[in-house]
Amino acid sequence: MTDNQATADNHYRVVILGSGPAGLTAALYAARANLSPLVLEGSQPGGQLTITTDVENFPGFPDGILGPELMDRMREQVKRFGAQVRFEVATKVDLDKRPFTVETDESSYRGDALIIATGAAAQQLGLESEKELMGYGVSACATCDGFFFTGKEIVVIGGGDSAMEEAIFLTKFATKVTVIHRRDELRASKIMQERAFANDKIEFLWNKTVVEVLGSQEEKVRGVLVRDTQTGEEAEFPCEGVFLAIGHKPNTELFQGKLEMNEVGYLTVAEPTTKTNIEGVFACGDAMDPNYRQAITAAGSGCKAAIDAERWLEVHD
Ligand code: NAP
Repeated sequence: MTDNQATADNHYRVVILGSGPAGLTAALYAARANLSPLVLEGSQPGGQLTITTDVENFPGFPDGILGPELMDRMREQVKRFGAQVRFEVATKVDLDKRPFTVETDESSYRGDALIIATGAAAQQLGLESEKELMGYGVSACATCDGFFFTGKEIVVIGGGDSAMEEAIFLTKFATKVTVIHRRDELRASKIMQERAFANDKIEFLWNKTVVEVLGSQEEKVRGVLVRDTQTGEEAEFPCEGVFLAIGHKPNTELFQGKLEMNEVGYLTVAEPTTKTNIEGVFACGDAMDPNYRQAITAAGSGCKAAIDAERWLEVHD
C-alpha cells in the first residue's frame, strides 16, 4: 500500500473518529504527513462548535467567528490536503488486532493507527420529566432552539461558562432569562460572569436545583419545581423554556472495556503524549480532556495525536 492511498478493502494508514477541532486538526496534520487519513465524522459533523454561536477565543479571528463557519473552514482545509471525510457513525471497533477495524452504519474500515476524537455531549439532569419534555420546551442547545422562545420567559440551569453564554444568547429572544444554580457562586470565568450580571434581562436563582420540569407534551413546559439546597423547601417557578447547561459527558461508550478511561469515561492517555493503553491507538480532544475542553486545546491535542501516530507508524509498518 502506498502511503497516500487506501487499498480496495478500505484499509487506511490512519482512521480518525470524530470531526470537531481535535479530529480535524489530527486529519490536517496526518494529511500533510502524506498519510491520507480517513475521518469518520460521527453523528454531529463539526462537533460541539456547530451548536454554538460566536467563538471569540480561537486565535486568528479578531472579530470572532461563528462556530459552524469555523468548522466548515477546518473541513475545507483538511480536504485540500487529501483527507477523506465521511459522514458515517462508528458503531463498533475491534482493537484486539492490527490493523484495527472500525464498523460504521454503512461500511467497515481498517486502520493501521486509530485516532479517537469523539468529543463529548451535553449532560442531562436525569429526570423523567426532562426526557419527556425534551423538544417540548426543554433544550440543551440555545443556538438551535433559542428562536422558538421569542417573547417568552425561560430558565437556564447551570453556573459555568456554558450557562452564562447560553443565558446571554437567549436574551436575544426571551423577555427574561433566569439562571438557576445549585450554589451561591458561579463557576463561570470572570468575564462571562460580568457580562451576565450586566445584562438586565438576566436574573439569578441561587442555591436551587430543578427536581422536576412541569408541563406535558400537549401544553409544553409551564414551569420547573425547584428545591432549595439549604432548606430543602420546594416551590414552583413558572417558565416556558428550560435550557440545560450543566456540563458534558465524553462520547466513549464504544471503547468501554477496551481502552482505559476514568470513572466518568474520559480516556486515559500517557501524558504528555496522546497514547492510550493500546499501541497504535491515540486519543485527543474532549474525549480525553476533563480539564480544559476548549476548541484550541482540542485542536492542539489533535495535532499531537497525528504526530504521535505518524511517529508510531514509522517504526510499526
Ligand atoms: P462546567 O464548567 O463543568 O459547569 C457546569 C455547571 O453546571 C456548574 O456550574 C455545575 O455546578 C452545574 N451542574 C453540574 N451538574 C449539575 C446538576 N446535576 N444539577 C445542577 N447543576 C449542575 O461546564 P460548562 O459550563 O459546559 O463548561 C465546560 C468547559 O467549557 C469549561 O472549561 C468552560 O470554561 C468552557 N467553556 C468556555 C466558554 C467560553 O469561554 N466562551 C463557553 C462555554 C464553555 P457547580 O458549579 O456547583 O459544580
